[in-house]
Amino acid sequence: MILTRAYAAQSPTSGMDTFQFDRRKPRADDVVIEIAYCGICHSDIHTARGEWGEVHYPCVPGHEIVGRVIQVGKKVKRFKVGDLAGVGCFVDSCGKCSSCKANEEQFCQVHTAFTYASTEMDEETPTFGGYSSHIVVRDKFCLKIKKGVPLERVAPLLCAGITTYSPLKRFKVKKGSKVAVVGLGGLGHMAVKLAKAMGAEVTVFSTSPGKQVDAKRLGAKNFILSTEEENFQSVAGKFDVIVDTVSAQHSFTPYLATLKRGGTMVLVGVPPEANSVTSGSLIMGRKSLTGSLIGGIKETQEMLDFCFKKKVYSDIELIDAKRINEAYDRTVKGQVKYRFVIDAKTF
Ligand code: NAP
Ligand code: ZN
Ligand code: ZN
Repeated sequence: MILTRAYAAQSPTSGMDTFQFDRRKPRADDVVIEIAYCGICHSDIHTARGEWGEVHYPCVPGHEIVGRVIQVGKKVKRFKVGDLAGVGCFVDSCGKCSSCKANEEQFCQVHTAFTYASTEMDEETPTFGGYSSHIVVRDKFCLKIKKGVPLERVAPLLCAGITTYSPLKRFKVKKGSKVAVVGLGGLGHMAVKLAKAMGAEVTVFSTSPGKQVDAKRLGAKNFILSTEEENFQSVAGKFDVIVDTVSAQHSFTPYLATLKRGGTMVLVGVPPEANSVTSGSLIMGRKSLTGSLIGGIKETQEMLDFCFKKKVYSDIELIDAKRINEAYDRTVKGQVKYRFVIDAKTF
């Protein structure tokens, strides 16, 4: 057993506080990671506060994990002690179903063991995430991190990075593509950087006028204040792909009008509330409205290698664990620039 220091929520309204538990004794195919940094994703907040439905407490969130390997099981070949490793949004899956075989373990038809607020493959043992000092994960589900990269700025790639990289790739963003990003937060700022690195011309839709300068610095060519409906007219019919990262209730309809004929709007933000669209907003121009969930292990490694090559990293604010509650409140207010990352030494 590995005694692990952590932060946990005990109820939807408790906030996050110190918590200790044991990680499992490593199995033959396990890697033991001493966590260095863990990002704060808005999904951590939705989950810890019970906004997406019932949660098993205590809840230790965190799925943007980077650290150092301190022990490996006998059968582990891909990692050795001293290597850097990353862990994203899930830690196990069946390996046999058609989704797993297609390298899309996030859609495992048997059971995806998500990194926290989920269960291991026995569908009983709760999983605890990266707001903790150590984690034990099957080697197949650990990502390789290159030495010499800014680790604290790499952590957010494990969720915010792959979640935005995957749909940009799937919908063939390349040099000259016109891409819009809705919401400039953790996911949004990575979407801007990644789309720009793929050669796209990027437009940001934001509710925050103060983020205009940052949007340009991050790589966007245009900035549109989405709170004024007439601002949408200047970009009618412009975009090949829209990536919507907004975490709260909003209408999709004005954005659909900014797609080109045959264009695609991808939802990655998960507001708890239901939404509606009129059929005409899709039929006129044969537009697609779709969604995307993180990405499989193979694609996550591809994304990391792309980021290491292009030096694409998250813009972060590094905090001690005792500031997690404050970071949650600021994230909900849209005041994060652009990802809070926890220094795991402070757990
Ligand atoms: P975040 O850092 O809080 O960013 C969300 C952004 O949405 C805010 O910065 C803000 O940008 C905008 N926003 C917030 N409230 C708004 C409102 N009422 N109306 C319009 N815009 C608003 O969150 P995140 O970590 O990037 O996560 C975003 C969403 O994606 C969350 O729902 C999260 O659960 C989800 N998520 C999904 C996946 C997936 O696989 N699909 C993976 C990770 C996260 P502006 O200030 O620019 O308007
Ligand atoms: Zn996340
Ligand atoms: Zn499977």
